[in-house]
Amino acid sequence: MSEDGTTLSTTPRLFVGDGLSAGAAITLPAPQSHYLANVMRRQPGDMVRLFNGRDGEWAARVASLAKKAVTLVPERQSAAQEVPPDLWLCAAPLKKGRIDWLAEKACELGVARLLPVVTARTVVDRLNLDRLMAHMVEAAEQCGRTALPDLAEAVPLARLLKDWPRERALIFADETGGEALAATLSLVPAPAAILIGPEGGFTAEERAAIRAHPAAVPVSLGPRILRADTAAIAAVAVWQALNSPG
Ligand code: SAM
Repeated sequence: MSEDGTTLSTTPRLFVGDGLSAGAAITLPAPQSHYLANVMRRQPGDMVRLFNGRDGEWAARVASLAKKAVTLVPERQSAAQEVPPDLWLCAAPLKKGRIDWLAEKACELGVARLLPVVTARTVVDRLNLDRLMAHMVEAAEQCGRTALPDLAEAVPLARLLKDWPRERALIFADETGGEALAATLSLVPAPAAILIGPEGGFTAEERAAIRAHPAAVPVSLGPRILRADTAAIAAVAVWQALNSPG
């Protein structure tokens, strides 16, 4: 336990929109105030950890507890702002529960950006970005991230390929075969992106177009056909293991 009473396991950790600096009081919105006061049963003087995606993490003290408005005063920065490895996850939208899970795990595993890609066999026509962002915020609160992933608007595959930034490797998870994953990804540092297809996979034309792209690095995730969400998280975990410090 640190001298101000914060411990990793018991101190609530919340994402806030306000700027964070020593002594600058912030008042939480009603849902977070309710959570702190009534669910976590914090009292004036208790410590909370705050982050906003810009200013690192701060140890803050509960100053007052009104019914729907808890006020906190940041005291000291408890962690510097992280700079995540520059890895994007480009994934076709999936059905509700699966895309929520994917967003949560991508955040936990430290992706810098989640970019939904609409392909010929994508069956989900509307993505609720607010809901996905809420899952990523919750994951970041739980896992200790200080930087939230950027969540982009969905783009069609053809436009993604056309506008692709030339310096960024496009790691193409191809269920029909590719280079061995670990040996290949150890040679593909940031900036990089992983591309995962929808439940129905890519069409033959899409696979040909991706493979023809100069940034494409086709990889196999092994002999089994994985669900799209499993494939995405397996590829991100291997890339992070091979390319992130510590
Ligand atoms: N319906 C497709 C089929 O049977 O060929 C399977 C699509 S798979 C459920 C969805 C996506 O996960 C694929 O487009 C690919 O990006 C990725 N994927 C799944 N298994 C993979 C593997 N063994 N190697 C590379 N990518 C894989």
